[in-house]
Amino acid sequence: MNTRDTDTLTARRAAAVARGVASATPVYAARADNAELWDSQGRRYVDFAGGIGVLATGHRHPRVMAAVAEQLQRFTHTAFQVMAYEPYLHLAERLNAIAPFKGPAKSLLLTTGVEAVEAAVKIARIATGRAAVIAFSGAFHGRTTLGMALTGRAQPYKHGLDAALPGIFRIPFPVAHRGIGIEESLRALDLLLRCDVEPSRVAAIIIEPVQGEGGFNVAPTELLHSLRRLCDEHGILLIADEIQSGFGRTGRMFAIEHSGVEPDLVTLAKSLAGGFPLSAVLGRVAVMDAVQPGGLGGTYGGSPIGCAAALAVLDVMEEEKLPVRAEAIGERIRRHLQALARRDDTVAIGNIRGLGAMIGFDILTSRTDAEPDGALAKLVTRKALEQGLILLSCGSQGETIRLLVPLTIADATLTEGLDKLEAALRG
Ligand code: PMP
Repeated sequence: MNTRDTDTLTARRAAAVARGVASATPVYAARADNAELWDSQGRRYVDFAGGIGVLATGHRHPRVMAAVAEQLQRFTHTAFQVMAYEPYLHLAERLNAIAPFKGPAKSLLLTTGVEAVEAAVKIARIATGRAAVIAFSGAFHGRTTLGMALTGRAQPYKHGLDAALPGIFRIPFPVAHRGIGIEESLRALDLLLRCDVEPSRVAAIIIEPVQGEGGFNVAPTELLHSLRRLCDEHGILLIADEIQSGFGRTGRMFAIEHSGVEPDLVTLAKSLAGGFPLSAVLGRVAVMDAVQPGGLGGTYGGSPIGCAAALAVLDVMEEEKLPVRAEAIGERIRRHLQALARRDDTVAIGNIRGLGAMIGFDILTSRTDAEPDGALAKLVTRKALEQGLILLSCGSQGETIRLLVPLTIADATLTEGLDKLEAALRG
């Protein structure tokens, strides 16, 4: 059987893989390097998806590969709960040193993003002795039962399911270009705390400082400050989900740093380990240590391979000044998009937004109607693939094109990718 032929692979996939796992592209990866990917047919793509924001340091960064190769020679797994190892300690120390809040920090290492979200909520509940959690519309926090309950989007994540959980409440996330202002969020929060749950029963408020799947909407600084004030007043913990927005993507190590607001707990994953499955919860010591030994962890949590990779990622971030590079990449992309938005030989685009290199824009029905158009955005991502560009959409109707370019991308590859994007928008 030809293992490279796309049709054969697609038939095997249809026969063997659960339908519920979707893929944005109908091709199959063969190899990758920095911001380039080749499929099983040998076709080359510029990668503007980076494995959904996992590859701030690009595919197979040599430093990350070398660190992993070295760790492979020593041991690959003991389970931290059976016998601890130094790379876990070292990574925790380095994460604590860059925590986006003052005062001592501690870290917990896990495997996937949603596991970090689950653990952060568990820690917050135990630390406060309260159960309720407030999340936002459009939020994405993962696909487990709690992750889904926190996630503020029904389609496709909750389809066919009664996903609501007691104690999880929701308020609107402000999205200026959709006419949802900060006042609306704060009014809903006030109403919630007066009608449904007393502030003294709320363990945490969880927010993405820049929403990922929800459409690359930036949480307004004023909202974050209001949430912080409310949390301080009522002993509620503020959780920043930085799984997509963290690790240099927005021009700072953590997106919340742009606001000056200090969270109590931070969830991390994706670009933390440059392509290896690793996640973390980083939090204030008193909060983190509320959980007794045995209450946290997981068989693969803080895998030695993942730790080795993440330590190398942190080195690369510093040495290659990737947060600064994110600003420069973002600036170039933004200028290019703004020029495209003014032209009339492409599909209509608008609502260009984001922080640093975490940039999204909407595909619109037309320049006059300016309504979001998810179907057209899907067409644009398909055209992009034909041009040799991997592009992802997001947003409540799939109307937003989001750019998650590796921050290590060569200037020439970035230019090539932007040219391909332009060609895809021309149709
Ligand atoms: N939180 C955010 C903000 C995310 O973007 C994601 C993944 N897209 C998750 C949580 C869940 O991470 P994972 O898929 O690794 O469980």
